[in-house]
Amino acid sequence: MTLEQIFTGGPIRPVVGAPRVEAVLTRGDRIVAVGSLADCEAQSTGHELVDLAGHTMLPGFVDAHTHPLMLGQCASWADLTGAASVDEVVKILREHGNDVPDGESIRGFGYDHHKLGSNDSHPTAADLDRVSETDPVEIMHASGHGYVVNSVSLSNAGITAATPTPDGGRIDRGDDGEPTGVIFDSACDLLTGPDGVKIENHGPNLHLPEEAETLDRMLLLGQQMLNEAGITSVGDCQVTEREMTNWLRCRDHGRLSLRVSMMILSSHLPHLRRLGLSATLGDDLLRIAGVKLYTDGALTAGMAYVPCGCPTNHRPGRLYHDEVEFTELLGAAHELGFQTGTHAQGPEAIQMVIDAIAAAQRRSPRRDVRHRIEHCGFPSEDQIAEMARHEILPVPQPTHVYQYGEGARRDYGEITEGMYPSGRFAAAGIPVVLSSDVPVSMPDVFLAMWAAVTRRTASGKVIGPECAVDRLTALAGYTIEGARALHREHVVGSIEPGKLADFAIVDRDPITCDLDDVPDIGVVQTWLAGAPVG
Ligand SMILES: [Zn+2]
Repeated sequence: MTLEQIFTGGPIRPVVGAPRVEAVLTRGDRIVAVGSLADCEAQSTGHELVDLAGHTMLPGFVDAHTHPLMLGQCASWADLTGAASVDEVVKILREHGNDVPDGESIRGFGYDHHKLGSNDSHPTAADLDRVSETDPVEIMHASGHGYVVNSVSLSNAGITAATPTPDGGRIDRGDDGEPTGVIFDSACDLLTGPDGVKIENHGPNLHLPEEAETLDRMLLLGQQMLNEAGITSVGDCQVTEREMTNWLRCRDHGRLSLRVSMMILSSHLPHLRRLGLSATLGDDLLRIAGVKLYTDGALTAGMAYVPCGCPTNHRPGRLYHDEVEFTELLGAAHELGFQTGTHAQGPEAIQMVIDAIAAAQRRSPRRDVRHRIEHCGFPSEDQIAEMARHEILPVPQPTHVYQYGEGARRDYGEITEGMYPSGRFAAAGIPVVLSSDVPVSMPDVFLAMWAAVTRRTASGKVIGPECAVDRLTALAGYTIEGARALHREHVVGSIEPGKLADFAIVDRDPITCDLDDVPDIGVVQTWLAGAPVG
């Protein structure tokens, strides 16, 4: 007989429908009834009771923009997210290197050049040579969009003064033309080895060489970190052959404990087209959801395309494609029947996406496609209105305001006030979706909610208070609206009869607790398909 369970004994927030209910009845992997305890008991044919013990029950969180494999990868490397100087970067890497066998790469993740007291300049190969002069040393920027590598790594990759900078890439050079070790965006293809993942000018290359076994371990670690944060559904927003192979292996070994909607990187568009793949392939656990494209660089790396009117620190940013090429790419994905999600930060980059979507829709009208703009850092008021008109969905990351807001203010000046403006999206009638972009920020749903509501940075400054949203909107952004951004709102994102029994049980009610306690809310248990995870 199929297991029936009644959850009761704490606040239950279904997110859609009644603001709070007393009980939820599940049968197998599905929700059957939501309402009073008496109602649920009346519909039950015999159940087990799950006592919430005063904890709050929410829908399993839906994080519409993540990189789970990269999360596990970065969590396996030296943690540079707190490094406050180049010397500290070197020290952390040396310590980490003690556990790395000779001949293998020493890797770190998450340095932020704004926080190193280096006048916002990146570390260099010479700095990393202090970690090792015999083994490769490679550190990934907090944005995930590039690396600094040491001399061994430069030499292994064959990057010299004579190496041309690839389209859509960045190789920093000294006065003598020699590479300094800073390799960003499409230039990262040079670091992945002859058989590595190559993505040309389709985005940043997150894929340094690794053994399959190591990748399996990393994916499981990333998945576990997401589950522990109460997250049960994600969009994996850059799927190449590497992520695809890993997810399939994970599923075939019965290890999948997340519902994954994969956004295939646009470098694979010709393969999708030749195979005749459509967006509907997959099931409630693992599916192909759409195509991921890039227009400009990472906001948090100072590489968003904002060519004018910025302080001296700022580089002009970078576009991966010119307008014609991008419009063709997005149009091809639209034509195939896919939803698209395009990374765009600066206003020019955002305009390229809006125009490309409008052109694609004029040529081949499709309803309810929900084309997305990932991050959507600095949209103008007019662009927000245009996005509303074309039903384009922005997918921003409020935690970036908290973590990187002050560095962004130095890079981009005044326009930073309008960074990730969820409140202005809401005012224009655009659904508010929140997400993490893990590992660019950690999978911390409540810190993200708090950041969206307060717009506060790590040091307590408030950035663009008019861009804030209220708590209910923030909660919806991580549940039902996240689900809508993935076309999954019929199965997840709220506690409603017929949906999958995915829940996050947390130690405080995020709607009624003290606002400043929201970031400290702990996840007690995560449920997927009617069973606790882990
Ligand atoms: Zn991302």
